[in-house]
Amino acid sequence: MNKKIYITTAIPYVNANPHLGHALEFIQTDCAARYNRLKGNEVFFLTGADENSLKNALAAEKEGRLVEEFVEEKRAIFKDFLKLLNIDNTDFISTREPRHFEGVKKFWQAAEKDIYQSDYQGIYCVGCEDFLKEEELIDGLCPIHKTTPQLVSEKNYFFRLSNFQKQLEEIYKNDVIKIIPENRKQEIESFIAGGLKDFSISRSKQRAHNWGIEVPNDDEQVIYVWFDALCNYITALGYGNNSPLYRAWWADSSTEVWHFIGKDISKFHCIYWPAMLLSADVRLPSKIIIHGFITVNSQKISKSLGNSVDIKNIIDKFGIDVLRYYLLREFSLAQDGDFSEKNLQERYEKELANGLGNLLNRVVALIERQGGKIKIEKNLLENVINEIWKKYDEAFLEFRFNQGAEAFLQLVGETDALVNQTQVWAIDDVEQKNGILSSLWISLANLADLISPYMPEISGKMKQSLGIKNNDKEFLGKEFEVKRIPPLFPKLN
Ligand SMILES: [Zn+2]
Repeated sequence: MNKKIYITTAIPYVNANPHLGHALEFIQTDCAARYNRLKGNEVFFLTGADENSLKNALAAEKEGRLVEEFVEEKRAIFKDFLKLLNIDNTDFISTREPRHFEGVKKFWQAAEKDIYQSDYQGIYCVGCEDFLKEEELIDGLCPIHKTTPQLVSEKNYFFRLSNFQKQLEEIYKNDVIKIIPENRKQEIESFIAGGLKDFSISRSKQRAHNWGIEVPNDDEQVIYVWFDALCNYITALGYGNNSPLYRAWWADSSTEVWHFIGKDISKFHCIYWPAMLLSADVRLPSKIIIHGFITVNSQKISKSLGNSVDIKNIIDKFGIDVLRYYLLREFSLAQDGDFSEKNLQERYEKELANGLGNLLNRVVALIERQGGKIKIEKNLLENVINEIWKKYDEAFLEFRFNQGAEAFLQLVGETDALVNQTQVWAIDDVEQKNGILSSLWISLANLADLISPYMPEISGKMKQSLGIKNNDKEFLGKEFEVKRIPPLFPKLN
C-alpha cells in the first residue's frame, strides 16, 4: 500500500546566513522525502522562512534598512542554499505571504475559546523569542544568547495551554504523535509532567516594532511569532481558504504528517503546536523527528571562535553529494554530532572513492572486456541484496540515516568480495562468467537506488554508466550496455 506523506522542516529565522545546522536538517528531511518517493509513496515536502520575528526587525534596523526588503534578501539567500544542497522540496513558504496571514488569523479565531487577555510581567529574550524564568538566567543573562533579557509588562493575549495537560500526556503515552528518537520523547514527557502553564501569544505593536501579524479585532497587538510560525505547516497548504491541497494533505487522516526539527525547538513543536491544533480542532501530526546539534572539531559553532564551516568551500572540494553523504552517514538523531573535514576526507577515500567508486569502475571494466553488453541471466547475490534492503528499510523506519548508509556499504563490501573470490576475470566458461558479471551488475543497479536518497547526482551517474534508461526494477532477461564514465569520486588535489 502506497502512503501519502507530508514532510516539513522547521522554518528558520532569516536574520543571519544559513549554516551547517540548517544544512543538516534540510538534508535529513530531503533524504527521508527521497527515500519515500523511491518506495513509491507520494510525498509533499515543505520548507520555508520564518520572517515575522522581532529579530528580523532589529537586524534590519541595525543596518538602517526596511524590514520587508531585508527579509526578502535573506529569503533569497536561503532559497539559493536549498538549491546548493540539492533539496527537492515541493513548496517554500514565507510567513509574509497572504496565504499565511489569512491562515493564521483563521486559526486564531478557531482557537479563540482557549484565548484570554491578561496583564503580564516577565523577562523576554529576543534571541530566543521566548519568555525566560529567573532561575534560567546566568549572571542575569540568557544562558544561550548571553544578553540581558527585556523586562516586559503589558496586557497580552494568553493561550490556555494548561487545559491540554491530560490530553498531551495521553497523546505521548499512546504514541498518537510519535516522537523520534526515544530520548527526546522522554524529555517531552517529563516537561509535561512538570505542569503546563498558559503562555502569552501576543505582544504590543510597539514592542514588536510594528512587525508581525495583527491580532484579529485588535489593532494594538501582534501575534506572538511562534504562534504565527507554527501555523506555516497548514497555511502553506491553504488552511486559510480550506483549499483542496489542504484537504488532501493535512485534513485527510490517511495522510501522514512528519515534522523534522532541532532539539532546541521541541517544546514549541511537541507541546504548544499539538495543543493549538487540538484547540482549533485540526488534526495532529503523526511524527516529530528531532535532531541534535553539530559541533565542529568538538567545539560548539560560534562566531567568536570563528569555527563556522565554509560550506561552499567543502562543496567545491568534494561535491554536494559527498557533503550530504557525510552528514547522513556520520550523525545519528539521538546525539549531537561532530563535523570534521579530516573525518569527512577519510570517509571519502575509504568508503566512497576506494569503496563504491572503485567497485563501479571495476565491474564496468570487466563487462567492457566482454564487449560492453551484458544480458542479465543470474543473480548470485539475491539473498544478500534482499537482506540489505531489509536492513535499509528498517533503518528508515526510525530515520537512522547512518544505519541506512551502513547497509549499502555492506553491499559494496559483499559485491567486492564476489569479484575477488570468483576471480571472474580469469574464468573461461562463458555461462559461468556471465552469471557472475550479471550478479555484479544487478548489485550495482541496486546500489544506485540505495544511495539515491543520499547522493542523488552520483546515483544518476551510476545508472548512466550501467546503461539503465528508465526506472525499471526488473532486470533478469534484459540486456544493458555499460559505459565507462569519469571517476565518481576523483582523487583529491
Ligand atoms: Zn536567548
